[in-house]
Amino acid sequence: MRYRYCPMCATELMPIGDKFVKCPSCGFFHFPKVGACAVGIVYDAHRILLDRRAYDPGRGRWALLGGYLEPGEDPEDALRREVREEAGLEVEVGELLSIAVGGPTCGLVYPARYVSGDLHRSVESAEIAWFGPHEIPWNEMAFPLHKKVLWEWLQTKAPDSLRSQARNGTPAP
Ligand SMILES: [Zn+2]
Repeated sequence: MRYRYCPMCATELMPIGDKFVKCPSCGFFHFPKVGACAVGIVYDAHRILLDRRAYDPGRGRWALLGGYLEPGEDPEDALRREVREEAGLEVEVGELLSIAVGGPTCGLVYPARYVSGDLHRSVESAEIAWFGPHEIPWNEMAFPLHKKVLWEWLQTKAPDSLRSQARNGTPAP
C-alpha cells in the first residue's frame, strides 16, 4: 500500500525512489510497514487444526491459524488470543519454529499444542477442522509458506504420534 495524499495535511505526496513517499508541504514521510503475525501449528496427538478462510487473501483455501499482533502484544499471547477467538481452544505455545516473510507480513510460526476447549468457528473463517497428517489438503492451502513450515514440522519436529502417520503415505506438497 502507498499513500497518495498526505494523511497529515492532504497535500499530494512525492514518491522518493520505489518505496518511500514524502509530503512537500509538511515533511511527512512514509515507509511501508511490515505487519507481524503470530501463526500456529495447532495440533493434538493425532491431528492438525486448519482454518478455511472466509476472506482474501486466500479466500476459500486452508491456512494455519493466527493473526496480527496488537501494539505491544507478545507474539505468544497473540497466538493464544487468536486461537481462542478463531477456534475456542486453549493451547500451549511451544518454541519459535520459523519466521515466514511474505509481502507485507512477517509471520512468527509456533507449534501450539491443544490443551482444552470445544472447537467452534468464528465469522472470519468459512470452516475449521482437524486433519490427520495424511489428510492435510496440501493442494488447497492458501499460503505456500504455511505449507512449507507445516510439512517440515511434520517431518522433523512433530510429536512421534503425528510424525509416524506423516511418514505413512503423505504425498509431498
Ligand atoms: Zn503533509
